Amino acid sequence: MSVTVVDHPLAGHLLLALRDERTPPDVFRALTKRLTTVLVLEATRGLPTKSRTVRTPLEEVSGRILEGPIAAVPILRAGLGMLDAVVDLFPEVRVGYLGLERDEATFQPSEYYAKLPRLNDAFTLVLDPMLATGGSAEAALRSVKGAGASSIRMVSVVSAPEGIKALEESHPDVDVVTTAIDRELNEHAYILPGLGDMGDRLFGTLPD
Ligand code: URA
Repeated sequence: MSVTVVDHPLAGHLLLALRDERTPPDVFRALTKRLTTVLVLEATRGLPTKSRTVRTPLEEVSGRILEGPIAAVPILRAGLGMLDAVVDLFPEVRVGYLGLERDEATFQPSEYYAKLPRLNDAFTLVLDPMLATGGSAEAALRSVKGAGASSIRMVSVVSAPEGIKALEESHPDVDVVTTAIDRELNEHAYILPGLGDMGDRLFGTLPD
């Protein structure tokens, strides 16, 4: 498995603003979209292409065009914050949804919703902004593989070493693209220093 930590200065700039507890949800959503654009450009470097020749007004020229479908599967709910960036970059993308929630005592994920497109011919991006224990990501990867996906990238905003290790063991064929590998998880399986609860910060559901 390869892990790419995107070290573009813009990615670092956007991540720090996301980490800032004072960033309100409307700004947080916009920043998440911008950062996901940077991450997805990196995650799709290996997209298959094929040769195509066109005529400019002056002469013929050959280039390469994208070949084959792209799919994106956000893990509900926080992954939704990453979807718009993918749709803007690849308007023809097939979108699937996976609803996974974790038991707050055991941190084990359970799937409460799944609607996946055909994935056997697609380059599939799984969108999970916080790769914490890796439990949800592992379960999501099992589901997309069950729907036929074989060329898969996991895109996360912040990862924990524990989550990376879990995926290395369970899905060594899946590459991970992230902005940062943070220090550790706390006792509630939140990433430290992290950015808090991604879903709450995106959707303004932070407890008072
Ligand atoms: N999910 C989050 O939203 N934040 C974390 O730190 C870990 C899991």
